Amino acid sequence: MRLAIPVFLPEGRITDVELRIPTPGVLSDVGRSADTGSNYVAMQILIAGSIETCTDEKGDVSRPDRSRAKVIVGRMSLQTAWQIALEVAKLIKGDGKISGAYECPECHNIVRAQKTKDVDLRDDLSDFEVSYKEDEEKGIAISIDEPVQIEREGNREVLSSVSRFVFSTPTLADYIKVNARGVEEYRELFHVMLETLLEVDGQPVEAKWKTRYGLLTMERIPYVKMRELSASFQRYGIRTRVTRHCPKCGSDFEARINAEGFFASALRQD
Ligand SMILES: [Zn+2]
Repeated sequence: MRLAIPVFLPEGRITDVELRIPTPGVLSDVGRSADTGSNYVAMQILIAGSIETCTDEKGDVSRPDRSRAKVIVGRMSLQTAWQIALEVAKLIKGDGKISGAYECPECHNIVRAQKTKDVDLRDDLSDFEVSYKEDEEKGIAISIDEPVQIEREGNREVLSSVSRFVFSTPTLADYIKVNARGVEEYRELFHVMLETLLEVDGQPVEAKWKTRYGLLTMERIPYVKMRELSASFQRYGIRTRVTRHCPKCGSDFEARINAEGFFASALRQD
């Protein structure tokens, strides 16, 4: 299958992978990781255990061993990793359907996409669209009219002031790193942004600045710009969003495929 975003490695880029059904041993490792709380690690194990061959931009085919495969998977964008994980789920399940539980943002009712004896409400994995990125990664720039400033308490001396940021597309390894720090889900994006920050005001970001003002600055980027950035992060790859209807309050809402549901149901052969 062709990857939504090529995997960039020092020696070249991988554009295609051939998948196989992972062994029961791999699947139990995936299950254990998902149970102990890291869905990102579970995803890495799943994909690394499912890659049969990799093809680079010159058409050379290689068979990575498990540890090499883990490195390759770590460098994938999260959306590319999802693209492969869903493809693997299709291989395992045959029918390509996945169930899940989604909380209604209005009334907190849990909407279930599942199969009962009367109706099949599961999502069909083939319905998710994939958009492919052709060109080289140049970074995602965000400019803000009013610079984000960090001031010293008391005399309000400006310690840091930034109005332009350049980020790279987050990789699975970035999410694994952030997740390992025990960051709560609703704060994850700030940490991922800091992890992928390449430039501030046209200069490569310095480690000292990152430590002192990085997170504080990320938290102060206006909401509308954060949304823009988050959308850019998800622009290429598989669109893992589904529309749900809440029968209790009648509202329709969009949700991302929930990873718990994915690892609990997509990989189970029923
Ligand atoms: Zn509702």
